[in-house]
Parts: sequence; C-alpha cells; structure tokens
Amino acid sequence: MTSPPAGRCPQCRKPASLAETNRFRPFCSERCKLLDLGEWFAEKHTIPVVESDADLDDAPSSPQDPDRLQ
Ligand SMILES: [Zn+2]
Repeated sequence: MTSPPAGRCPQCRKPASLAETNRFRPFCSERCKLLDLGEWFAEKHTIPVVESDADLDDAPSSPQDPDRLQ
C-alpha cells in the first residue's frame, strides 16, 4: 500500500517520480538530468556546452594561426 513518492523535476518542473524505478530521479527523464548536470558543470567550470555540431567541420582555432591574430 505504498504509493511512490511524487516529486517535481528540478529541471522542467514537471511531475517526476521519486520511486527507485526512476533511474533519473529526481528528474523526470535522462534529458533533464543531463541538462541539469550540464548547467552544473557550466557554473562550476564554465565549460561551453556544445548544442549543435555546426562547428564540427571547422578546424579548431589554433593560437598559432596567424589569421586569428588581431
Ligand atoms: Zn524534467
């Protein structure tokens, strides 16, 4: 007669199950969990979050590249 504890996803504020069967708790989904972790890392280490692969074709900017010296 135990109902799973109900919670709210810290990321998207949707109702999220806190039951042990929810491996992403307290988040509602893996996406929200990863998003939250991403924000945490961004705050702690200011790592830019790559949200698109549009830049993958560009060569990484090199400090030795004379074209980038201004
Ligand atoms: Zn969520």
